[in-house]
Amino acid sequence: MHDIFLKIINKDIPANIIFENEYVIAFLDISPVTKGHTLVVPKKYSKNILDIENEDLVEIIKSIKYLAPIIVDSIEADGFCIKQNNGEAADQTVMHTHFHIIPRFRDDGLVAWSGNTSNPDEFIEIANKIKNNIE
Ligand code: AMP
Repeated sequence: MHDIFLKIINKDIPANIIFENEYVIAFLDISPVTKGHTLVVPKKYSKNILDIENEDLVEIIKSIKYLAPIIVDSIEADGFCIKQNNGEAADQTVMHTHFHIIPRFRDDGLVAWSGNTSNPDEFIEIANKIKNNIE
């Protein structure tokens, strides 16, 4: 399997690593959306958030909480977004779980998501479909 992040974890290829511990490695995205765009990656392989072990997920979230304010302060950003893609349809291109920390600046011009209008009946139908599958 071609796993570019595994190569970074194993130091087989270079990356701008900013942090690592037993569970997690964090490095700058090679194609940053904004300055300081960082990827936080579990060292143990999982494809995405559906098959990652809970322990690794907890460690990732802890690392994000630790790193994000340091990144924001270091580059004088105004805030940050966390993004995590699952599956090709959701723009996941590297099939090794990762979270994006994307620093935001008041005038960065990034287009935020905008919601669509939906009719009340559709809301009820969708909510019921989901609730029926929750045990
Ligand atoms: P995603 O679209 O959520 O799968 O994001 C994958 C991210 O990995 C993209 O933002 C890429 O720019 C980034 N990426 C791919 N290869 C590398 C690399 N060698 N070093 C750092 N970031 C990378």
